[in-house]
Amino acid sequence: MSDIKTILKGDKFAVATIGAIKGFEGKQFVKDATGATSCEISFGTLPEGASVPFFHSHKENEENYIILSGEGKFQVDDTVFDIAEGSIVRVATNCDRNLKCTSAEPLTYICIQAKEGSLGGYTMTDAEITEHPTLL
Ligand code: ZN
Repeated sequence: MSDIKTILKGDKFAVATIGAIKGFEGKQFVKDATGATSCEISFGTLPEGASVPFFHSHKENEENYIILSGEGKFQVDDTVFDIAEGSIVRVATNCDRNLKCTSAEPLTYICIQAKEGSLGGYTMTDAEITEHPTLL
């Protein structure tokens, strides 16, 4: 099991790490380490042949799975499809989901859950370019 660590916290930011993605094991939720208020992010990994031990459904939050490594199958209700490194899967509320690793390489993924329908402005409709002096 890999642990998440909060590295740095400021008034306006927090930095956390799970360490190297390669070799990550288990499941880690990020929200408590960063204080996120808009979404929950988790890292998960499944070894060859393993699936999450249960199907689950969400009442309010959609989920977006980003596959970082490995290959597998993803099931939403009665539909099954292939996933692999680079796949991004959005799953709506009120449906059952699970995923399984079918490769020798562990299936490692990020899952972002956020309230369905809550995204208002984003990217350049929410952001504005500022003239802050760089310290980088
Ligand atoms: Zn979930």
